[in-house]
Amino acid sequence: MSVETLTPPLRQTEVFVPELVYFEPDALNYPKGQRIMEWAKQQGLPIHMTTSHNRITNLPGESDLEKYRIAKRTLVVGIRKTLKFDTSKPSAEYAIPIATGCMAHCHYCYLQTTLGAKPYIRVYVNTDDILKAAKQYIEERAPEITRFEAACTSDPVGLEHISGSLQELIEFMAKEPLGRLRFVTKFHHVEPLLTLNHNKHTRFRFSVNADYVIKNFEPATSSFSERITAAGKVAKAGYPLGFIIAPIIWHEGWETGYKQLLEKLKEALPEEATSDLTFELIQHRFTKTAKTVIQQRYPKTKLELDETKRKYKWGRWGQGKYVYPDEQATALREFITEQIFEKFPMAKIDYFT
Ligand code: SF4
Repeated sequence: MSVETLTPPLRQTEVFVPELVYFEPDALNYPKGQRIMEWAKQQGLPIHMTTSHNRITNLPGESDLEKYRIAKRTLVVGIRKTLKFDTSKPSAEYAIPIATGCMAHCHYCYLQTTLGAKPYIRVYVNTDDILKAAKQYIEERAPEITRFEAACTSDPVGLEHISGSLQELIEFMAKEPLGRLRFVTKFHHVEPLLTLNHNKHTRFRFSVNADYVIKNFEPATSSFSERITAAGKVAKAGYPLGFIIAPIIWHEGWETGYKQLLEKLKEALPEEATSDLTFELIQHRFTKTAKTVIQQRYPKTKLELDETKRKYKWGRWGQGKYVYPDEQATALREFITEQIFEKFPMAKIDYFT
């Protein structure tokens, strides 16, 4: 295995190209499956078949860590069978499943625990079935608007050059008077989406953070400046724009870090981006399981995971989370909120959690 495979790059400047690709045989009955197969062949990638996208057991790698890193560069093309959508509070009513897994290596990412032993990247070829299910959810809630979050289990912008699924979702929602789409990304590869007819029904959000967080905890994502340049293009293309500041991390110099973040955003964003801008603020949290997994996968991480410095928040399904104590959480919320309104008086803060 190459050294490159084992050490995630600091930044993902080029579009992602996996090192291994698996196909479920039935995926090739769909035009998207055939298209991805052609693409994989053109790229000269090793191609394997698998009976199920949920059971890839023979990945190469000698240690668990090596297997994990290789899984992050493995693409599995399959059919989405579960068409019951999960809820996605507080950002939307439902999570719309177009991909699972991500090639980036954010130390804090909750996919580390939710995907468990299956950190490889899955894209689904039966978008028509997924859109049919979305249509039903919209109809059930009429005359209310229904929002779908497309980035609950992946970063779909980083996979768009392979799957084309966001394009299909955006164009579908454009024609749905009561349907809205939203997703968030840390990648800047937005070009294929800029010329689509979105009818302002899709809110495009970028995940941003203080320098300290991006530098230390977000390997293999696009740089801050690439993300902001992409945000400017997205705003110029008329999409409603938003930023998610997450995870907000208490670190030495955090006030300067988050102040500079908002200053840089203000400097870089074109005027048209600021009239309908939303912010979502999420403080860092972790579970006991997450802590164990993170420390195995990123043994040198500087991520602070000390339960004694945190407040325990009981969870609905048993396992609680460690969040910042009230005093710290309030300081973070108040300071960042002030900075946002100072720089973007017309922006809306959707939530702090
Ligand atoms: Fe997780 Fe998002 Fe980072 Fe991908 S970009 S590893 S989905 S936090």
